[in-house]
Amino acid sequence: MTEGVITTAYIAASILFILALGGLSNQETARRGNVYGIIGMAIALIATIGGAQVTSYGTLAVCMVIGAVIGIFVASRVQMTQMPELVAILHSFVGLAAVLVGFASYLDPGAHLTGIEKSIHEVEIYLGVLIGAVTFTGSVVAFGKLSARISSKPLALPARHWLNLGLGLICLGLGFAFVGAEGHSGLIPLLVMTIIAFIFGVHMVMAIGGADMPVVISMLNSYSGWAAAATGFMLSNDLLIVTGALVGSSGAILSYIMCTAMNRKFLAVIAGGFGTAGGTVAASDGEQGEVIAISADETAELLKDAKSVVIVPGYGMAVAQAQHAINDITKKLREKKVEVRFAIHPVAGRMPGHMNVLLAEAKVPYDIVMEMDEINDDFPETDAVLVIGANDIVNPSAQTDPGSPIAGMPVLEVWKAKTVVIMKRSMATGYAGVQNPLFFKENARMLFGDAKASVDAILASV
Ligand code: NDP
Repeated sequence: MTEGVITTAYIAASILFILALGGLSNQETARRGNVYGIIGMAIALIATIGGAQVTSYGTLAVCMVIGAVIGIFVASRVQMTQMPELVAILHSFVGLAAVLVGFASYLDPGAHLTGIEKSIHEVEIYLGVLIGAVTFTGSVVAFGKLSARISSKPLALPARHWLNLGLGLICLGLGFAFVGAEGHSGLIPLLVMTIIAFIFGVHMVMAIGGADMPVVISMLNSYSGWAAAATGFMLSNDLLIVTGALVGSSGAILSYIMCTAMNRKFLAVIAGGFGTAGGTVAASDGEQGEVIAISADETAELLKDAKSVVIVPGYGMAVAQAQHAINDITKKLREKKVEVRFAIHPVAGRMPGHMNVLLAEAKVPYDIVMEMDEINDDFPETDAVLVIGANDIVNPSAQTDPGSPIAGMPVLEVWKAKTVVIMKRSMATGYAGVQNPLFFKENARMLFGDAKASVDAILASV
């Protein structure tokens, strides 16, 4: 392929990626957005394969087949509930790729840069490896936390801020030793910095409590973009720079949205350690009174008699895969002229947009799916609220207990409705590990059991 064709293909792919992002911002256009992304990626792959930098088609073909087989195998087997952890581990691959490309570019015997060009290239390598290494181990720990292989409790090492500062300063010093070093003598500072960045990535995410994980997920998403952009600089690949910048900046915007949704300051989240045993978690975990149980039949009666119903889905709905049955109940109630709406909290589930994806999959009409801000004021006029496997996002202690790990996080004020039915299997806490005073309110009823079984039973009765 000529340079001109490749440049044109790269521009086309960049435009398609921008259209893909635009499409993904809305449920109705998300499918189209995905198609744009797929076409853009196909063009990008073909143009890259056709580029002059590729010297061994055999090696490339073997690598692509191995990668494609693993990708197809993993993607076809992953459960919807495992999606957040899959996304986290995929971010780690981007980070690791940036580290490996960085070392390869540094050791490349074919590189003959001199003077300022050499220094700029070394800065690119150093930054790319640094961001890539933090992204790699940070994402691996995030994967562990999301898949419950690692506790979601924050690790609060003594003097951890000093430790982070110390590691940062050492990396800065090593950077000066690396840039401009003769021959390949910069390899040692590069290696030492990589190890420190690995440690930093682990420490950064380990220090973050369960309630703050949404910000970390979106932040690692952003880092993976910047790592890809840095790789683009190292390889002088314009498309990779553009794509990396798109992912990096959209991840940064998402982090901002998540921070706003949780009423948290970005730096406070990154500093971590929130929600340790020193807080009032234990206090609010204490005895709170009696809960009142309700049966599926009684819940069905309640829903049929209601004029307005709001359904609040949470992580438990994803675990139970109850979204299709809940859509059937919605249809039945709407036939009976009951107004049914869904209330979506921005951090419900385990990844941004988790609930929207599930409801869209179950074909719940978009116009009855409301964001938190759109519906929160309507709870006092709502007859019945059905909370399906949600916990932290409907926890009133976010407003009443300043020492709670979720203090200040805006929550869905479901307790203001006439009656709230909460479906869950036990009195266990949610991801943030905080007890929920909602369950003990006078107008709250607990429908214990797996959400899918409960929803099926209600459906049969409705
Ligand atoms: P929570 O994790 O707070 O609560 C989920 C509840 O679902 C649990 O209390 C559990 O109770 C119940 N549950 C689990 N399985 C089932 C089942 N099969 N049937 C019925 N109930 C079930 O979820 P929320 O959605 O309310 O809140 C999300 C939390 O996750 C927040 O703390 C958020 O910060 C965090 N988070 C969000 C991310 C995001 O990007 N959205 C990313 C990472 C973390 P029981 O065991 O008793 O059934």
